[in-house]
Formats: sequence, structure tokens, C-alpha cells
Amino acid sequence: MARRVAILGSTGSIGRQALSVIEAHRDRFEVAALAANANIDVLAQQANALRPAVLSVGSAQLSSELAKALTYAPAHIAHGSDGLVAAATESGADVVLAATDGMVALRALVASLERGMRVALANKELLVSAGRLLCDLARARGASIVPVDSEHSALFQCLEGERRSSVASVVLTASGGPFWTHTLEQMGRATPEEALAHPIWSMGPKNTLDSATMMNKGLEIIEASHLFGLEPQRISVVVHRQSIVHGFVLFNDGNVKAQLAAPDMRLPIGYALSYPERLARAFSEAATRDAIGLGERAATLSFEPVDETRFPSLRLAYDALAAGGTHPAVLSSVNEEAGRAFLQRKIKFTEICSIVERALEAYRSGADGLGEIEAADRWGRAFARDAIGAAMRR
Ligand code: MG
Repeated sequence: MARRVAILGSTGSIGRQALSVIEAHRDRFEVAALAANANIDVLAQQANALRPAVLSVGSAQLSSELAKALTYAPAHIAHGSDGLVAAATESGADVVLAATDGMVALRALVASLERGMRVALANKELLVSAGRLLCDLARARGASIVPVDSEHSALFQCLEGERRSSVASVVLTASGGPFWTHTLEQMGRATPEEALAHPIWSMGPKNTLDSATMMNKGLEIIEASHLFGLEPQRISVVVHRQSIVHGFVLFNDGNVKAQLAAPDMRLPIGYALSYPERLARAFSEAATRDAIGLGERAATLSFEPVDETRFPSLRLAYDALAAGGTHPAVLSSVNEEAGRAFLQRKIKFTEICSIVERALEAYRSGADGLGEIEAADRWGRAFARDAIGAAMRR
């Protein structure tokens, strides 16, 4: 039986790579729903090729534009946050791939977990902001969350068949991003083009910029704490420029497991979609070449500590985790707004983290229910807009 997949965020980097995995394994998967925000041309192309029953877009106007571009009649074209809920839960999907940006898919994810569905989770911000709520809900409803983020996929794979009580600590690897060898002064002058030129990974602009500030790794520390139920002090980060080892698990008895793979997002995506089975690697004709390349690169594995003076984002993430409640939601939303302002050349690169730091200092957290998380997200965005405005007037 083919597994039916709903893809939330099908036109983004993860969504498109997921479709290429599905394309190579048509016997294993069917596409039940596709959801995108505003990229109607690409969504229409995908939909016309795969003919899923449910489609969803950002707004009512976009849904009528989409309808005109379709060569078949889907059962339902929905829009907005409700549209994402429909794509996830009314399409007959077995697995929901959450690959949207930001918080837009929060209610769709909650609805999927409430129904005990499998979620392949690529959307960092959701897990950072609402991690406890989502993981508690998954546990209560017997739903499973399989991470797509490469580092968490690595830890998840290392933990298969292990007892959580045997885990001493985990280590996430970081590529260091494009500015690993830059001085603070050079980072102050960094342009959006430089920040978006990631040396290794092919990702969307949000993740790529987060990689340059290393806030990406900060968000991943918070993700790991929720996914694996680990206290912050049991999670650490090393810079590993080759991006071959994606994570380590250190056990109580001194044994260490690591997961190694080529830096190719299709691997963790395929694992999350097919779990607990594994896909035969048919999607790359270059598999042999990749294996040889992996061996060549693996011959020079290096690991270094993070420089927290140039990369304050990790400390900010630990602070947000320690403060608890909705602090991580504020960290995530302020980072997203400040990052966007940098890409629009409104603020300097180094101001991204300083605005996040000021927001965390100013914020007083509430409980972390669904409404409070959404309120914290809005608070963070408003704080960021004020801080960006002030920075531009200077
Ligand atoms: Mg990652």
C-alpha cells in the first residue's frame, strides 16, 4: 500500500526536495495534498502532475488564480490557516510533511497530532515555539513526530532501539556557515548575498541566513530539547565544516553513536517519510559517486568549539530555553523578522542577534498554551519592527 503524503509548503526548498524523493519512489508514495503560500505557478505544475485531492494556498484570491491554472478538478481548494488544516486532515493523508516557514501551520499540526497522525517535521519555528505543546500532544494521542532536520534525524536514528534513560548527552554538528572564518568587524559589513552563499547545504533563504548567524543551531538546540526530552545542559554543539557527521549520542556507559551521510536533505526527508522502513537509494544516479565523495571527505573530519563572541545566537537559545514558557517563541519570531530586515538591507548582519537579545530581556513570559504561543509570536514581531525602525533612523 502506498503511503499517502500531505505536503505543507510544497513549493519551498524542502517541499520540492520531498517531491523529488516521492517521484523516485512512486510505488511507495501517493501525494494526497499540496499546500503553498503564493507560488501559484509552481504549485499548479506540481498539482497538474500529481493530481492530489486537496490543494491549499495563502488567500482566497490566490485560490481562484490557482483554479484557473489547473488541468484537473481537485476535490477541494482551500486557503489560509484553515486550508492547511484541510490539506493535512481532510485529504486522507497518512503522513503530513510540515515544511512551511514560520508559524502558519501551527493549527494544522495540532489537528494532525490530535488525530494521531504521523508528522514529518521540517518546520523549525513550530517546534521551537510550540515544542512542548506539540510533543505532549503527540504522546497523548499516540501520534509520532519524525524530524526532518538533518541533525535531529541523526539523533533520532542513533536513538532507535535505545532507552532514553541510557542517554548521557547529545551533540549537534554545525557547518559554521559562510562567516565561520570572518572577524566580528567583517560580519558587521556582511551583505545579504554573502550570507545567502552557504558553502555546503542547499536550503531555503530563511535557513541559510540562520546558518550564517548560527541561530539555526540555536533553534536546533531548542528543537532537540523538546523532541528528545533533554535538559539544555545535555545538548551541545560542535562546528564540523565537512557536514558529514550530523549528530552524536553519548551513552551512560561511555559508548558514542554518530550518524554520517552526505549533506543532502533528501536523505532525512526520505527517512522521515518512509520511517520505520528505509528507501532504496534510487533518487540519485550519482549514488556511487556520492559514496566515494563521502569517503574522501570523511578522511578529513574536523570538530571545533563554537566561538560565542562572534556567534552569540547559541547563548541566546540556551537563555530562552532556561527562561522557558513562551520565550522560545519570542526568540524565533524576532529572529525571523530581524533576518528579513537584514535581507532587505534595513539593518546590519550583527544587529539580528542584538535585536533578539534585547527582545528576550524585555519579554515577560506567560504559560505556553496555543493562544499564548500565538500572542508571544505577535509580541516578538511587533518588538522586532520597532527595533528595526529605530535602527534605520540611526
Ligand atoms: Mg539542521
